[in-house]
Amino acid sequence: MATLLDGRLLAAAIEQRLQALIAAHLGAVGRAPGLAVLRVGDDPASGVYVANKEKACGRVGITSHGAHLAADTPAREVQAVIERLNADPDVDGILLQLPLPAGLEEGPLLAAIDPEKDADGLHTLNLGRLLKGEPGPRSCTPAGVMAMLAAGGVPLSGRRAVVVGRSILVGQPMALMLQAADATVSVAHSRTTDLPALTREADVLVVAAGRPRMIGAEHVKPGAVVVDVGIHRRPEGGLCGDVRFEEVEPVASAISPVPGGVGPMTVTMLLVNTVAAWCRRHGVDASPLADLVP
Ligand code: NAP
Repeated sequence: MATLLDGRLLAAAIEQRLQALIAAHLGAVGRAPGLAVLRVGDDPASGVYVANKEKACGRVGITSHGAHLAADTPAREVQAVIERLNADPDVDGILLQLPLPAGLEEGPLLAAIDPEKDADGLHTLNLGRLLKGEPGPRSCTPAGVMAMLAAGGVPLSGRRAVVVGRSILVGQPMALMLQAADATVSVAHSRTTDLPALTREADVLVVAAGRPRMIGAEHVKPGAVVVDVGIHRRPEGGLCGDVRFEEVEPVASAISPVPGGVGPMTVTMLLVNTVAAWCRRHGVDASPLADLVP
């Protein structure tokens, strides 16, 4: 039986650490950390994600400064809201909830976020910092995967890692983080030939292809660690990932479930980035988060 990489448990433990750190310094700083989740339009899935993020903020003592704009808001107005949040001294983290409504380009709007308040770690400057190994907010989903691997005691140095997917949101930063941890990394994508042969080389396999249940036992080397980033609504109800859990679990040495794996960790790393920014801005000792913040 594979060990379960339980994202819910780990997220709850990290939330407790954040809550304790905030409580210890709240008096001296004089205000709680603030996260602004900016939502444009009415994408229903985004509504659920934003509500989850705001609930998580409430649990640890982060103030939410959310804004919800109509789907037909012109880009210059969205940009003006971002600029207002950039200048707001009570806001430490800003997140632009994606996807944006048709007609709004995400690139220029993400670029308008102050890189020091980039709670999602998706600003070009912060992706560059990751590439160069410099400190800065890291992309939440891959950072959450790294925290899960560390908590599961998964060794990475010298191991073979394969990442399936090369998006800027997940696959690319994931590969850079695994490489920074001294794994030897291959990245697969939709044009990769003989995917099972490549993924079977992996000691650590991270799947972020966005294809429901595409990875089966034939893709996995016995004893490998498998992390499933995918998340999909099943037509018959419930959620599934990119991995056929019931088939891969008997082969793997450790595996993350969907739901309850990477998803909760993504939200938690957003909180970590926000609290780390609050610490930086107020000279608070962030060493209790040293294992989570580069
Ligand atoms: P994306 O932008 O659609 O990227 C998918 C990547 O997978 C692309 O690089 C694509 O290759 C590759 N791919 C697609 N089909 C493939 C195949 N058959 N074989 C090999 N590679 C294939 O998706 P994303 O934003 O990275 O998200 C991936 C999944 O993670 C989605 O299910 C998403 O919902 C989920 N997600 C979950 C969380 C969470 O918190 N749990 C957070 C973010 C995303 P090409 O580049 O060649 O097109």
